Amino acid sequence: MKYRIISITLLFFSLILLSISCSSNETTISKDTFRGVVLYPSDIRSLESDKLIDILKRAKINLIGLHSNTLTENLDSLKIFLKSPNGQLLIDLCKKNKIEVEYECHVLQEILPRSLFNNHPEYFRVDTNGVRRGDLNMCFSSEEAWFVVERNTTELLKWIQPTTNRYFFWIDDSYDGFCHCDKCNLYSPSDQALLYENRMLKIIQKVNPKASLAHLAYASTLEAPKTIKPKEGIFLEFAPIGRNYEDSLSSKQHKALKKNLEIFPKRTAHVLEYWLDASMFSGWDRNKWNKVPWNANYCKRDIELYRSLGICSFTTFATWMLHQHYFELYGQDETVEILKEYGSLLNGD
Ligand SMILES: [Zn+2]
Repeated sequence: MKYRIISITLLFFSLILLSISCSSNETTISKDTFRGVVLYPSDIRSLESDKLIDILKRAKINLIGLHSNTLTENLDSLKIFLKSPNGQLLIDLCKKNKIEVEYECHVLQEILPRSLFNNHPEYFRVDTNGVRRGDLNMCFSSEEAWFVVERNTTELLKWIQPTTNRYFFWIDDSYDGFCHCDKCNLYSPSDQALLYENRMLKIIQKVNPKASLAHLAYASTLEAPKTIKPKEGIFLEFAPIGRNYEDSLSSKQHKALKKNLEIFPKRTAHVLEYWLDASMFSGWDRNKWNKVPWNANYCKRDIELYRSLGICSFTTFATWMLHQHYFELYGQDETVEILKEYGSLLNGD
């Protein structure tokens, strides 16, 4: 009974702490509480930065993640955008309006160029058939490959400077892109990803000692790592792609999240969702450009679940939705209202 009272007391104080750290009251919001959207440079270009910032402010969004992927908008196009007047204005306006800026990017194809494969196949992965391939990722055990990765990452850090010191240098976007060489084959996809992230964090911290780096739990890295432990400064980024939003997280995703939260700190865990991702709901087909099937109750249900597990940091892809073309198709006012609902759910209004 004594232990029961102690447990109840502990639970009570845990709930109080959780409600304080995720509270809607501006004075008690912890530094790690984020209400974000992730966008492509092309989304921002279409709206122009001043219009976008005005919309984000009205929706109480306090974080923007700039997204690049190798296939459609790569790091070069992100860099060109940032140097453009529109990009410069975005950074200035974010600073003025206390909106944090991060960079959520698949970088590996670009920091280990595929053109190196011909002369250095050993830098690259061995597929499940035992064949070296230059298609995806790298051999995470190749020291020579790491030498190239470090050199190119250092260049990247000259212009990718998140205001939060949180870095997102993701591996390739694939389900079966891992290495099966004798050394790497000992590790699961999530363990290989964490091997990469632990080493990448060390490289980044040489330039920015305050840096932290995301472990992206997503697709084939959804399951928690089994053997590799995260270095201090690695935080969980949970991105449950492939959900049916009418339902809560699937039991597989829920279980994987809870397991990940046993490995990575809860305090810094971050959710990357797809609630407003018009690109995903269009199958990334620009000929479709579908309407986002927004339902505030589904989003609220999800946020409550994440918060019950101790997560306070949220962002969602809003790619192709915060876009002039989407506004023309589905109405600007209606779209802004949806974003405001999303902001309110996280802000606790
Ligand atoms: Zn390998």
